[in-house]
Amino acid sequence: MASGHTVLMRLVASAYSIAQKAGTIVRRVIAEGDLGIVEKTSPTDLQTKADRLAQMSICSSLARKFPKLTIIGEEDLPSEEVDQELIEDGQWEEILRKPCPSQYSTIKEEDLVVWVDPLDGTKEYTEGLLDNVTVLIGIAYEGKAIAGVINQPYYNYQAGPGAALGRTIWGVLGLGAFGFQLKEVPAGKHIITTTRSHSNKLVTDCVTAMNPDDVLRVGGAGNKIIQLIEGKASAYVFASPGCKKWDTCAPEVILHAVGGKLTDVHGNALQYDKEVKHMNSAGVLASLRNHDYYASRVPESVKNALVP
Ligand code: AMP
Ligand code: MG
Ligand code: MG
Repeated sequence: MASGHTVLMRLVASAYSIAQKAGTIVRRVIAEGDLGIVEKTSPTDLQTKADRLAQMSICSSLARKFPKLTIIGEEDLPSEEVDQELIEDGQWEEILRKPCPSQYSTIKEEDLVVWVDPLDGTKEYTEGLLDNVTVLIGIAYEGKAIAGVINQPYYNYQAGPGAALGRTIWGVLGLGAFGFQLKEVPAGKHIITTTRSHSNKLVTDCVTAMNPDDVLRVGGAGNKIIQLIEGKASAYVFASPGCKKWDTCAPEVILHAVGGKLTDVHGNALQYDKEVKHMNSAGVLASLRNHDYYASRVPESVKNALVP
């Protein structure tokens, strides 16, 4: 601890600056006009030049500063020398001024696993739904998501000239979540947010079973957690495989840090150790309040179809 700060807080402070840099890359690729779209497993499972460059930037920047970390990124990329221009060396000083929760003060670099989604909401990014997009850096210790950073590169992009573009939300369990104003949906209202690009019968059956007052179909796991913490939706329901550990790790931390809960559709916690299967095969169920209510309404047929 030569710097006087714990490994965890130094990592979060660096991840903040690294996620911001990734956000600038995401904006630059659009501005340059060539998205370089590649289909991965299906026409709704896409990768763009922004996904590739942002992942190279995030993973290389983290690995240079923290060589003993385990870093798991979404994109399968050839290992090649990364352009110096993509490296971010900064750290967000405001984070270093906060105390590290005592239970994490002795964590060693080699004990941490970092889950990286360089661009969450790629389908929406290619369709111009830019505020659906986030950059996600989640940090896990002993299989549990404990810290996370979400950059939203196009936050405010429709607010007109003068509005600051982009923002970064971060959090650590036991310390809190920062970079947004917590708001709740009025009590008794059930507004469900779910996928707009990866729906199927199980997903719609489960959403209907929640008895929703309204359904908000938006892209991105990060974006849907933002809907929950800013009072736009009361639960995020995705009763299908498809969402991966890098989609849920950072968002889960932000939600848990403000008293919410993210589980699979059975109500079981997700695991984030380095050997874990990447796919969240039993779906995602997240809420700011009343998680038991939403879990109790998941139909048995949906549960039986989604084996962890
Ligand atoms: P969505 O709510 O559709 O934006 O999905 C949240 C995250 O899970 C995004 O990163 C999606 O790419 C991923 N995802 C969900 N379903 C699928 C699927 N069927 N195929 C590939 N990725 C998926
Ligand atoms: Mg994603
Ligand atoms: Mg992605």
